[in-house]
Amino acid sequence: MHYVSTRATSASAARNPQRFSDILLAGLAPDGGLYLPETYPQVSGAELDAWRKLSYAELAYEILRKFATDIPDADLRALTAKTYTPEVYRNARAGEAAADITPLRVLEDGAAGKLVLQALSNGPTLAFKDMAMQLLGNLFEYALAKNNDELNIFGATSGDTGSAAEYAMRGKRGVRVFMLSPHKKMSAFQTAQMFSLQDPNIFNIAVEGVFDDCQDMVKAVSGDLSFKARHKIGTVNSINWARVVAQVVYYFRGYLGATTDNSQKVSFTVPSGNFGNICAGHIARMMGLPIDKLVAATNENDVLDEFFRTGRYRVRKAAETFHTSSPSMDISKASNFERFVYELVGRDAERTHALFRKVDTDGGFDLSGGPGSDGDEWKLVGQYGFASGKSTHADRLATIRDVFDDYGITIDTHTADGIKVAREHLAPGVPMIVLETALAAKFNETILEALGEDAERPAGFEGIEALPQRFVVMRPDVEAMKAYIAQHTGL
Ligand SMILES: *Cc1c(COP(=O)(O)O)cnc(C)c1O
Repeated sequence: MHYVSTRATSASAARNPQRFSDILLAGLAPDGGLYLPETYPQVSGAELDAWRKLSYAELAYEILRKFATDIPDADLRALTAKTYTPEVYRNARAGEAAADITPLRVLEDGAAGKLVLQALSNGPTLAFKDMAMQLLGNLFEYALAKNNDELNIFGATSGDTGSAAEYAMRGKRGVRVFMLSPHKKMSAFQTAQMFSLQDPNIFNIAVEGVFDDCQDMVKAVSGDLSFKARHKIGTVNSINWARVVAQVVYYFRGYLGATTDNSQKVSFTVPSGNFGNICAGHIARMMGLPIDKLVAATNENDVLDEFFRTGRYRVRKAAETFHTSSPSMDISKASNFERFVYELVGRDAERTHALFRKVDTDGGFDLSGGPGSDGDEWKLVGQYGFASGKSTHADRLATIRDVFDDYGITIDTHTADGIKVAREHLAPGVPMIVLETALAAKFNETILEALGEDAERPAGFEGIEALPQRFVVMRPDVEAMKAYIAQHTGL
C-alpha cells in the first residue's frame, strides 16, 4: 500500500509514493497536499461476516493491516491490543459495556426510522479524538524506538485536541509534548485535565494571549526550518493520515453492531468541523462498507453545510467565525476537505491543486456548475452518500432537553448538533447512527443552561479542578519559546 499527495503531479507521484511508516510522523506532503492511499483496499462480504465476531481491537487490527502494510502483522496486532482496552475506554455510561469500546444505544425505533447513538467518547479525555490519538501514541512510540529516534510535538489548543494528544503521549518513550493554550481562557475542566498531568514529558505552556497568539507562535517556530529539524519538532493535527485511518474502524464497528447481515445499510450523522471524522466515514464507504448516507452536521460555522447544499466552498474570515457552544466545531475552513475534493474531481491532482490555490487567493471555489463556476462536480456529491445540515445554539439547547426528557441521557453540545441534523435525514429501514463526539461533562456550562442541572461526571473526574497543576506562563514571544523548547529537549 502506497500513499500519494492530493497535489502530486503525475511525475512527482511516480517518484514519491510513500509507505505508511514514512507518513506516520508527517503532516502536509511537501507540495502542500494531503496524503491518501493510491487505491482503497476493498472489503469482501465474507470478511465483513468474519468481522462480526471480532473484538474492537481485533477489528482495528484487520482494518489497519490493509493500510499499514509495512508494519509486521504481529507488531500491529500488539499495538491495537494495547490501545483498545476497557481500561483505556472506561468511561462508558450506565447500561453500556466498556468492553465494546464504542457501544451503541438505540434512542428510538419508530415509523420515521431508527435513531442510534454510537459512543466514541469513553476514552481518557471524554472526546472522540482519543479513538485515534491513543493509537497514535503507541504507533509513535513504536516507530521512534525502531529508528532510535525522538520527537517533540509542538502544538496549540483551545481544548479537545491538546488534551487528547497529551493523554496519548504521556509517559511514551522518545516523545515530548509542548502544548500552548491561551492563559485562563479554557474551561476549568479542560484546564484541569491538561495541567494536572505530572508526566515529565508533558509541557503545558499557558500563553498570555488568545488562541490565535498560540497558533501564531506555533507557525513562527515551525517556520524556522533549521530549528524545527534540529529539535525534531512535529505535530499531531487533524490532517495526520494515521489519525484519519484509525477513525475508519468505528464506522465498521457501528455498521456491524447495527445490522445482522450485509444486505442491510446504515447511515451516519457526524458532528463536523475539520472534516476529519466524516472523511474516515467516506473512506469506509469507499472500501465497500454498506453506508447509505454520510450526513455532515455543522454548527453556526456552516462552511461544510454550505458546500453540500450549494456546491460553493467558501472559507470564513476571522470576523465571520463564531464562538459557539459546540466550540470544537468552530472552524473557518475544513482542513481535511481536500481529501474528498480530490476524489470528487476524479483524483485529478492538478485540478485539486488549482482549486486550493484559489482558496488561498480568492477564499474559495465553486463546483456548482453555475455561470462562472470552477466545475460542475457538485452534482456527484450524492453518489458519495453525502448530505448535510446545520444546528444553532437554540437547537442545541432544545435537543439536549428533548434527549434528556425522552431517553433519560445527557448528551454534549456537539452530539446535540448531530442529533438535530440526523432527525432531518431519518429514513425507514436504514438505521441512522449518530456519532457521539464528547461527553456532556466537558461542556457543562451549556448543559446547565439547557437542563438547569450539572452534567454527570464519570468516576475519577470528581474534583479534578483541585488537583495540583503543572504549567508555565509565558508571554507570546517566539525567541523565548524557542529557548524554552531548546532547554527541555536537550538537543
Ligand atoms: C474535534 C471535534 C469535532 C469535529 O471533528 P472533525 O474531525 O474536526 O470534523 C466534533 N466534536 C468534538 C467534541 C470534537 O472534539
